[in-house]
This record gives sequence, C-alpha cells and structure tokens, in this order.
Amino acid sequence: MDELTSIYLDHCATTPVHPEVVEAMLPYFSAFYGNPSSIHSFGRKAKEALTAAREQVAQLIGADPSEIVFTSGGTEADNLAIRGISSASEKKGNHIITSSIEHHAVLNTCRYLEQRGFDVTCLPVDGHGLVDPDDVINALSDKTILISIMHANNEIGTIEPISDIASIAKEKGIIVHTDAVQTVGKIPVDVERLNVDLLSLSGHKIYGPKGVGALYITKGVDIVPMLYGGEQEGGLRNGTESIPAIVGLGKACEIALRELTFQMEYLKNLRDQLQKSIVEQIPDIYMNGSQEKRLPHIVNLSVESIEAESIVRDLDKKGIAISAGSACTSDSIEISHVIEALSIPKRRAGGSIRFSLGRDNTPEQMTSAVQILGDVVQKLRGMAELERSLGTRRCL
Ligand code: PLP
Repeated sequence: MDELTSIYLDHCATTPVHPEVVEAMLPYFSAFYGNPSSIHSFGRKAKEALTAAREQVAQLIGADPSEIVFTSGGTEADNLAIRGISSASEKKGNHIITSSIEHHAVLNTCRYLEQRGFDVTCLPVDGHGLVDPDDVINALSDKTILISIMHANNEIGTIEPISDIASIAKEKGIIVHTDAVQTVGKIPVDVERLNVDLLSLSGHKIYGPKGVGALYITKGVDIVPMLYGGEQEGGLRNGTESIPAIVGLGKACEIALRELTFQMEYLKNLRDQLQKSIVEQIPDIYMNGSQEKRLPHIVNLSVESIEAESIVRDLDKKGIAISAGSACTSDSIEISHVIEALSIPKRRAGGSIRFSLGRDNTPEQMTSAVQILGDVVQKLRGMAELERSLGTRRCL
C-alpha cells in the first residue's frame, strides 16, 4: 500500500477485516482444517463452524439458518438468485423486472439472460435515484417471474422502497430478489419485514473477508444451482466450503449486529459533519441521491466542471482514498450508469465523487479531508479555467 494513504473513505468498495474476524478465522487455516463433509472429528469440527456461521448470518437478517446459502460473494449470490430463479421458472414465464441503477452483478446477469430469450424491463429512477413502485405495477405482465431491485445503491446510497415493491409482487405470486450488499450490517435488514424471497449479501463490505457472501432463499422457493458437484449447501452451491472465510463472514455479522445502532449513529454524525463542511467551504457543490432515504455512511456529490477522476487522483496523492462516478477517456467523459440515470447535467455528472465512511474514521479525518478537497478543487478549477482559455481542455 502507498505509505501516504492515511484517510480511507472508500468503504463501499471494501472494508478492512475486523481484528476479531481475523482472530476467529485463523484457527480454521491450520488447526481446524477439516472438510465439513467428512464424518471424522476433523470434519465435525469444520461442520460445527459452518453451522455456527450460518446461524450468525441468519440472525443478522432475521432468517432461519436453513435459508442461508454461502457463496463466493455478492456477485455470485446475485447470479445464483437471478439465473437460478429464471431457470427454475422458465415454464411460468420469461419476464424479469430490474432497475437501471443495479450493480453490474445484477445488470450483466440480466443482459446475459436477455441474450438467451428472456425479456428484461429496466425501470428508470427519479432524480433522487428512487424507483417508483407504480412503475413496477405498470411493468408487470403475466410472464413476469422475478423482480430484482437493490435495497440500497452502492454509489449514491439511496434506499429503495423494497417492501412496497415486494407487496405488489406478492399479490401476483412473483418472486422478489434484493441485492442488499450495501445495507446488510449497515442498517437494520429483516427479510420478513422487507418481504423478499431472496437477498444477497457480501463479507468484504462488512469488515469480513473478501471472496465470501451469502444468498438468503426463503423456504419453499424453487431455484436451480449454477454449479454441480458434491451436494454442499443443500445442493445449491456445490463445492467444498471455504470454512475460514465463512467463519469470518459469520463473525463479521455477529459484530455488525452487536454494534449496529451505535455504528449507524456514529457514521451518520460523521457523514453530516463531512457534508456540511464541504457545502460551507467549497462553492458549486451539488449532492446526488435522495437526502432522506439514504444510507448513513455515504456522501455522493458533484463538483461542477471538474472531472471526478482528477479529483480522486489528486486526493490520492495527498493520502485520501475516495471513488469517482465517472472516468475521462481519450476525449470524452464516461459517466457511471448510476449517475447517468439521475439525469443531471453533464458538467455536474462528470464531477461526481463518493465518500463512503467506516467505523475507523474520525471527526478529525473529516476536517482534514474537507480542507484537502478544498485545495484540490481550487487547483483543478484554476487549471480547467486555463485550459479552457487556451482551448486545450479535453473532457468537461
Ligand atoms: N452488489 C452491490 C450493490 C455491490 O456494491 C457489490 C460490490 O461492490 C456487489 C454486488 C458485488 O459483491 P462482491 O464484491 O462480494 O462480489
């Protein structure tokens, strides 16, 4: 890692593994290395850990342990949900409803299915990034087999009206999946209250290890696996389970549940401090996404007339890690599909950046980050002005 990077504000991309998680995982690499399918004591020890982790994950989302299938992460959970339901329901219909701001794990899975004859409706969002449940009603047909809409967006943090959408679907007997990779462990997530049939989550977004996640599948839902093999995970995710990673995910869920209320409040206060100071100290800043229905730890904003990528690079040189909602290619600006969906002016969309806060961030870090951001924006705006006057500006 670059020695200089000292303020990490990119927790939606990934989080550091919590020390308690590392401690819980370590024995399962060396001392307790059994295969949970083996019937001897080594295998039984691994099986016990698998069972305990399943309970920990289930408890965080209000599910029954039997409804949890471990996967390699959020991407695989999304694929298993969408492809698994599509294959199982082919005789009932071929129509899937999703939204234009889904993660690529959902969007590209839907595109794959579209190429294989499925009909996909990609619902728009309003200027705040919200799906309108009435649009779901209007999109329904007697061929609709699945609605997959994310619980909260990973770029702008907007929380979607999933339980409203699920009630609409339930009346018609349509299955609902939600990608909750950015909400589980961050805000209360209860599968009963959300009223969903399937829900994806991922370990590395909640201070657990990378390469592990889970799909919640409500009892009685018929789903076809993507991998065939030794009948692990009730035959839905075949292959020997990664016990250390699963133990880590379980521990991360246990910690998230224990600290949920405190962390939500802590992060909300930090976020509000960050946002308020930015708006007060830097001119021509515009917030992206709903300011009411949103996650407590994300600030997405646009810096008018400056390319986001330049801001991210300059902040990185000064030790601050954030992410950009656009990239400047040879002579044009490529705006993320999420920011694009908000229909904001291009000179604003191209300057969209995301701060995503985490448990180790402090109020002092927010103060430094705003100060440094102010310097960077001032410098880049000066350069942009000069390039415009010389006619050498490429993107915005
Ligand atoms: N869904 C959302 C909303 C995400 O933010 C991510 C990761 O950024 C994923 C799915 C993919 O999860 P994973 O990295 O565990 O495959």
